[in-house]
Amino acid sequence: MAIVYGPVASWRLGRSLGIDLLNAKRKVCTFDCVYCQLGETSRFFVEPKEFISLDQLTSEFESFRPIDADYATFSGMGEPTLASNLGKAIELARSVLDLPIAVLTNSSLMFREDVRERLARADVVVAKLDAQSEELFSVVNRPASSLRFHTIVDGLRQFRNTYQGKLALQVMFVQANEGYAEGIAELARSISPDEVQINTPLRPSKVKPLLPENVANIRAKFSNLRNVVTVYEAPRREVRPLDLVETLRRRPGPKDYLV
Ligand code: SF4
Repeated sequence: MAIVYGPVASWRLGRSLGIDLLNAKRKVCTFDCVYCQLGETSRFFVEPKEFISLDQLTSEFESFRPIDADYATFSGMGEPTLASNLGKAIELARSVLDLPIAVLTNSSLMFREDVRERLARADVVVAKLDAQSEELFSVVNRPASSLRFHTIVDGLRQFRNTYQGKLALQVMFVQANEGYAEGIAELARSISPDEVQINTPLRPSKVKPLLPENVANIRAKFSNLRNVVTVYEAPRREVRPLDLVETLRRRPGPKDYLV
């Protein structure tokens, strides 16, 4: 299985070369979000460990020709902060690929200082915030039993206070949290991100996406925040994945989702 996949057309990051430090056949995650495109979480992970060695990553990079991409993005088959070598992998990817580095995280482990230190090496961190209360968090993100919403929000705040790069909050709206947009916007405001990305599942998912007009109404509730973007407004970049099979494993859907 390849560790590096794509590039994919990311509405947030343009042409994004994916790096999957988990590289597992099944999802490795702290959450089991109702909308997850990777299927159900059969087993929760909450303790970071090494899934892929830096030697394996180095040998995969060695076979690479220069890639036409805007970002190298740590994402893949689950939650990338579960990889204990994420920080060193970020440094390695930056030195070899000569691209800015992004990490897409569900924020769940940002209460840990070691995880915040690893994330801080990225140029862009896109962090999930789908709720404003413990109750809604348990409905939408269905986390591992040891995780608490207020601890995660505390971790996000601590990260915001020290992080020098660009922090984007990504909020995935589905029917379950649509009615709580005001409260989520208020919480987002208190974290003071550089950008807010309002999403709804346009790729294959068990739950239906919200309509463009509903997303536009939600956007209005985030009006006091800087740089608010929605998935319906974002331009799509044309890309050609290096390996379509490996790319579709992490980004399931018809091929035209990728181009
Ligand atoms: S955090 Fe991401 S990978 Fe994990 S369950 Fe949610 S959507 Fe799926």
